[in-house]
Amino acid sequence: MNRKAETTKQQLTISSMPDLKFRKPVPVNIELKNRNPGIDPQFVIFKEANILDSTGKEPYVGDVLIDGERFAQVGGEVDPAQYPEDNTLVVNAKGKTLMSGLCDSHTHLTWNDAPTLNGLCDLPNEEHMIHTVVSAKCYLDHGFTMCFGAASAKKRLDVACRDFIQAGKIPGPRYLANGPEISTTGGAIIPGITLFADGPDEMRKVVRDLMTIGVDNIKLSMTGDYVHPTMGSTETYFTQEEVDVAVEEAHRHGKRVAAHARAADSVVMCCKAGVDVIYHASYCDDEGMKLLEQQKDRIFVAPAINFPLLSTTSAAGYGLTPEMAKKRGLVHEVEAASKAMNAMYKKGIRVLPGGDYGFAWAPHGTYARDIDHFVRLFGYTPMDAILAATALGGEIMGHPEELGKVQPGYYADCILVDTPDVLADVRVLQDTTKIHGIFINGHKHKLSETPAPSYNPAEVTQKNGVKEPNESSNGHANGVNGAHKGTSDVANDSQARLEKEMP
Ligand SMILES: [Zn+2]
Repeated sequence: MNRKAETTKQQLTISSMPDLKFRKPVPVNIELKNRNPGIDPQFVIFKEANILDSTGKEPYVGDVLIDGERFAQVGGEVDPAQYPEDNTLVVNAKGKTLMSGLCDSHTHLTWNDAPTLNGLCDLPNEEHMIHTVVSAKCYLDHGFTMCFGAASAKKRLDVACRDFIQAGKIPGPRYLANGPEISTTGGAIIPGITLFADGPDEMRKVVRDLMTIGVDNIKLSMTGDYVHPTMGSTETYFTQEEVDVAVEEAHRHGKRVAAHARAADSVVMCCKAGVDVIYHASYCDDEGMKLLEQQKDRIFVAPAINFPLLSTTSAAGYGLTPEMAKKRGLVHEVEAASKAMNAMYKKGIRVLPGGDYGFAWAPHGTYARDIDHFVRLFGYTPMDAILAATALGGEIMGHPEELGKVQPGYYADCILVDTPDVLADVRVLQDTTKIHGIFINGHKHKLSETPAPSYNPAEVTQKNGVKEPNESSNGHANGVNGAHKGTSDVANDSQARLEKEMP
């Protein structure tokens, strides 16, 4: 073949196969209108802070200047006398660490700390909307300024909450809103929060429908989950064609695709289809690992390890004893996932903390546990765990040049932690009395040693006479342990079922 013919063939190949599914999602709107002129000072100066800037540089002492929504100077000296006294807040940050606000890469604002899977969808709409708003504030109260929505229990709860945060009407993190999970017939772990689609045509229609309500992300629920009594984490319920179409359609609209993908084959399918964020990936095999490594500049992984981990230790009061959790495979999954995440870390694949907070035994307000899991379970250095929770947060939010670092020009989303060295023990981030200051978009959300207000949906639910999630009678047939019953009934049911299933 001569050179000319070769060129023609190449051009034809390129033009006839536009790589639509790998098209980069358009930058999502992350602007906030939360600043009150006349109330929020134009300038904030942190004096003598230990600056942990999330560039990878070791913390160093210096001043930081915020001008309006953004950092103007980071390091060196800032002289307060140069700024108008009535429009400048000066914070003595000596002995404290100033760092970027944190990111949760797998957020469910609509999860309501329910004790069963189906409890997530049993609240009346009015209470559910308010819970969503309260959990958005809860994230910010705990120093999280970036959250990537990983599915909404009802169609528009996430979208409405995001819009009110952006308008500055309610406090919350910068948020990428999701819709309900999408799954196939027989493939939903929680049918009540799921939209169903079988085959490419239905998948296309469901994704297009979600585009009309203004989501930023869509979520495919592709595999089972050992927390469910019968749908295991190694089972995949999607065809490649269904994933391909979902991704193609979302990307056509410039939106991101996240997938609940625990099984080995599901990870491979995600990589082949162009999924943007792979959740869990616990059983990622050699093929999946190879594909992830090839696509590491495009793809994110978020294991959301806290939920399965605590399901093995802390769910007994809700009907899932450690013995049952072990029999179901949860202990094995945590071990497999930890190994997989360690391998990904070594390969430079972008793995992010966060995930699945909002169940009774993994409640809202405990989000920073994930960062410690990265150190203890996945072998991350404290610095790399912090970078994963901050700098990579800016990347998954689609704005790596503006979010996730304390650098001039970046949005002034930061926390002031009452320790000279966060890296000495990242668990300090779990103690909100140590999170002395929280700023988002240059706006002071908190500046004191007071603990974050507690978030306990059950209290409100009882006070308002709303039925407890596990007393629901709407007929869904699979809570964490199979049905809506009191927890002791649930435990008995599950035990009986397990005994029946044991050889
Ligand atoms: Zn989730």
